[in-house]
Amino acid sequence: MSVTHEVINQATPLADANLFHLNLPLQEALAWHHPGYDRSRFEALGAEAGSAGMQAHARLANFHSPVLHAHDRFGHRIDQVEFHPSYHALMQSALRHRLHATPWTEGAGGHIERAAAFMLFTELEPSILCPVSMSYAVTPALRVQPALFQDWLPKLASTQYDARFLPLAQKTAVTMGMGMTEKQGGSDVRANSTRAEFEADDAWGRRYRLTGHKWFMSAPMCDAFLVLAQTATGLSCFFLPRLLPDGSVNALRIQRLKHKLGNQANASSEVEFEAAAAWLVGDEGRGVPQILAMGTITRLDCALGTAGLMRQALSIALHHTAQRQAFGKRLVEQPMMKNVLADLALESEAATALAMRLARAVDRTENGRDEHEAVMRRLLTPIAKFWVCKRGSHFAQEAMECLGGNGYVEEQGEGVMARIYREMPLNSIWEGAGNIMALDLLRVLRSRDVAAALQHEIATARGAHPALDRAAERVLVGIDTLADEAQARRLIRDIALLLQATLLQRGSPAVFSAFCASRLDSAADVFGLLPAGTDFDAILQRAMPSLH
Ligand SMILES: Cc1cc2nc3c(=O)[nH]c(=O)nc-3n(C[C@H](O)[C@H](O)[C@H](O)COP(=O)(O)OP(=O)(O)OC[C@H]3O[C@@H](n4cnc5c(N)ncnc54)[C@H](O)[C@@H]3O)c2cc1C
Repeated sequence: MSVTHEVINQATPLADANLFHLNLPLQEALAWHHPGYDRSRFEALGAEAGSAGMQAHARLANFHSPVLHAHDRFGHRIDQVEFHPSYHALMQSALRHRLHATPWTEGAGGHIERAAAFMLFTELEPSILCPVSMSYAVTPALRVQPALFQDWLPKLASTQYDARFLPLAQKTAVTMGMGMTEKQGGSDVRANSTRAEFEADDAWGRRYRLTGHKWFMSAPMCDAFLVLAQTATGLSCFFLPRLLPDGSVNALRIQRLKHKLGNQANASSEVEFEAAAAWLVGDEGRGVPQILAMGTITRLDCALGTAGLMRQALSIALHHTAQRQAFGKRLVEQPMMKNVLADLALESEAATALAMRLARAVDRTENGRDEHEAVMRRLLTPIAKFWVCKRGSHFAQEAMECLGGNGYVEEQGEGVMARIYREMPLNSIWEGAGNIMALDLLRVLRSRDVAAALQHEIATARGAHPALDRAAERVLVGIDTLADEAQARRLIRDIALLLQATLLQRGSPAVFSAFCASRLDSAADVFGLLPAGTDFDAILQRAMPSLH
């Protein structure tokens, strides 16, 4: 007790909980999509990610942002970024838990397990996952260049994180990033002005010299990047390492690091290429589809990451309201707070279900041929990226409000909710912002029989709830008749909700019926509008079993 007062009625921080144990929807998604999954892997990751020690690393890595050293003290250009040791501790953990390129060297189910692990790790720290995600995503784009791929894949998939600035041959593991966005255009990368001049053929293929800039290039301490540049034939994709095979430093200059809203542990930079050496990946003039083979996989991670952040915010909100008292009751027992928390739980569970469904489609199409899964992968990528990420910021605001003023206070990085809130908008912006995803859906509608795939996908849930049947009819008419680009956001939202409801039908009846009743007939504008008759206790117990 201090001289003036005793501190009472303050919640404890949520620490040293096994995050996997708390997350029933994730456990069920794993069991459904990959019944033989390795539970011990998640027990270990859940315990580590929830530990107070790792959470301290997350705080420190964000509080002590990376620092650029463009030159050494003698004036030599060095272009190095210095990270807090906690950043490296987190990276080491992420690679040890196989969140990067390992699924490409594993069998069926590898992408599903990795997706669930990625989601779980996001609850610990999302910004270090940027280079981890890009290292996972690069394989489909890079494998068309067998010489490069054979040299780099083993170390991209290695679990022995190595932060040293050394050539490939001397490192135990490498990471990769990407550079598309330039000042004059990020969504419309056709506006890229970086030029590529052919130099010579060598062991890695066709070598060029790149001159130009990138306005956003995250994780510039990665060992190599896929970048876009113009050749005489058009926009092309290139592999650009930071250190060249002879050990010399490639001409990539880091101009400065971005001062960002959130995502503080991740160094996002502006760079210039001064005749930097780079090798052609794929065909000249086919750079956009080539690099999009990487971009579509990172879009999966955007949905997974947001679902992970939602789950983290929900857990903190439940943990807080189960302890804090107001007006004679614990907050979690107040009827209106129950409605808000249950509504957040529905959203979190639906986000998990949709993102994991996309992960299954990726897994099925990478480990075999399945026509339905191929259409679902193409369809679900823009849908999950758009809808899950769009809901993230709104979700974080409401979860923060459950903590009252404490939710808004960061206190040297200890207030995790504020960090989540600042992180949330990012997954919606990068890797193709919301409108770009809706435009991509229109592209899918033109190229695939989406209606047939959707009918097949929702068949098992038909008849389970009248609102779901009505939504299905509306969506099928919408797919058939959509002519106006300006209406694409409505359609992408409606398909997302229909698919989320379909996925939830397999799980808790209380969750399924509340989801259908609250979201399918009319869009809810704020959380906490679940109708009378909702089984709030069942939904809340499921969301945080350990609290009850
Ligand atoms: C922290 C951070 C890290 C990043 N890291 C990287 C990286 O490592 N590598 C990289 O290449 N990029 C990176 N980016 C860039 C990011 O991918 C782009 O910012 C994003 O793709 C949007 O591009 P832009 O900023 O040029 O916006 P613009 O392209 O100008 O878009 C602005 C808005 O207009 C909308 N819009 C665009 N075209 C249309 C249309 N036809 N119809 C309707 N609406 C439209 C978009 O949806 C968006 O909302 C990063 C960004 C951030 C914030």
